[in-house]
Amino acid sequence: MAKASCPQCKAKTASSAHVCPACGFPLTPPQPVRHRQWPTKKENMSGFSKALLLIGGVFAALLFLTD
Ligand SMILES: [Zn+2]
Repeated sequence: MAKASCPQCKAKTASSAHVCPACGFPLTPPQPVRHRQWPTKKENMSGFSKALLLIGGVFAALLFLTD
């Protein structure tokens, strides 16, 4: 079991402890707000270009057929 020490009073604390048992100092920093996992730029771009190609193809087909 990993041990940690309080950054304030240097008392040995269990790593699972949320606050220092000696001084009450909060040991776990506030969890950062988890952002949604966005698709990577590459995936995003490939999806975007796919949609663009699809729309472009539909428009081209429509123009070709109507004219
Ligand atoms: Zn402490």
